[in-house]
Amino acid sequence: MSVYQKKQHDSVSEDIVWHNTAISHQDRSRANQQKPVVLWFTGLSGSGKSTIANAVERLLFEMGQRSYLLDGDNIRHGLNKDLGFSDQDRVENIRRIGEVAKLFVDSGLIALTAFISPFVSDRQQARSLVKEGQFLEVYIDTPLEVCEQRDPKGLYKKARAGKIANFTGIDSAYEAPVSPEIHIRTQGLQVEQCAKLVLDELIKLSILEVKD
Ligand code: ADP
Repeated sequence: MSVYQKKQHDSVSEDIVWHNTAISHQDRSRANQQKPVVLWFTGLSGSGKSTIANAVERLLFEMGQRSYLLDGDNIRHGLNKDLGFSDQDRVENIRRIGEVAKLFVDSGLIALTAFISPFVSDRQQARSLVKEGQFLEVYIDTPLEVCEQRDPKGLYKKARAGKIANFTGIDSAYEAPVSPEIHIRTQGLQVEQCAKLVLDELIKLSILEVKD
């Protein structure tokens, strides 16, 4: 059992006390003149999470919004490089990302995360870390056949050939969001159109203000 697996089962020691920082979340949000939220992109591999999240972040940047994108593979190069793809490691992967996203929101930023995050319970856990209304599930809804056809990283091909086990959509389940705050059906749309739809929804949900 690795150190983190052992720790997972331990509760926080009573000697560890939460300290409030001198600058509050509200102060930081006000200074940034924005509503900090998590935009939690979820969808099959190759559905377009990373591509659309990048395009959304670019639009946010152009609007003067301060954000940070946590992207699947990049996180596995660093923070989560000790994790593999067992069920337990996948849960831990998403748990850490949820915690990091929470810190970004606390710092007054818009956190975008682009991970398959196939299980409802893991997404629910990430949601529970921030305040009500601060977690927006963005379901990038692309049919499996389309993802498999795109196969940008050749992963479906490998999974079909039995070279990757537990691949989401092939031999591991993807639990689609039941009522995501934002639902993007990508088929027949260009990346920029999908990104614009996300922005429109953020405006409708009063997360973003349209300034004249
Ligand atoms: P994911 O992050 O979900 O694994 P990626 O963003 O890495 O997916 O890959 C999606 C691929 O599909 C990219 O090569 C992208 O250019 C392509 N693509 C084609 N049409 C779209 C669309 N409407 N939205 C997003 N991606 C699209």
